[in-house]
Amino acid sequence: MATVSDQSVLEKLKAGARKFQVEVHAGSAEKYQRAATIPQAPHTLIIACADSRVDVETITSSGPGELFVARNVGNMVPPYNGVRGGVSAVIEYAVTALRVRHAVVCGHSDCGAMKALLHPELTDRMPTVATWLQHGHAALMVAGSVASRDDHPTEELPRLTEENVLMQLAHLKTHPSVAGAMARGELTISGWVYDIGTGVVRIAEDGQREFVPVTAGAEAKG
Ligand SMILES: [Zn+2]
Repeated sequence: MATVSDQSVLEKLKAGARKFQVEVHAGSAEKYQRAATIPQAPHTLIIACADSRVDVETITSSGPGELFVARNVGNMVPPYNGVRGGVSAVIEYAVTALRVRHAVVCGHSDCGAMKALLHPELTDRMPTVATWLQHGHAALMVAGSVASRDDHPTEELPRLTEENVLMQLAHLKTHPSVAGAMARGELTISGWVYDIGTGVVRIAEDGQREFVPVTAGAEAKG
């Protein structure tokens, strides 16, 4: 990836905006015109990590109007009775107003938030981050408990990453809008882990603990 000096970051962003107008937007003008004139109707809510390498539109080959996205440090979903802030509002709006049909919690490999959960001293000078990461403490306990039952300590980061996604899915279900829509059969949910190095997304469908890779050439049925 190209590096950019501090002074030229804004110029790089401007160049990117120009390139988008000319190459991407102009090339799909009809699609963008449609998106601009009809109310948005995204089919999916994705809660992903804020990590700069986790571009949910790119990894799902999605275009404008398809995904309603919330990104935060560690792809956390505060339980309904906890922090009722931005993430909770995104969930409620996506499910109640936009009536998304699927909701995803998407974690990823090499996640700094998961590393900070494992090594709290990393957030010594970041009290806000440390407080936010408390939403992952239950996952940390589960991952530690699972680890004590097997002999692969080097896998603690990927294990925690998976357990955190599963725990945030559980938190997602505490939101009344989600619980109601799921009960009516209008909403399904799944947990994902995206591997940055390989590009592979692994998915645990609701109720499953196993993350199954979505591999090229294997089309989903139905
Ligand atoms: Zn992350």
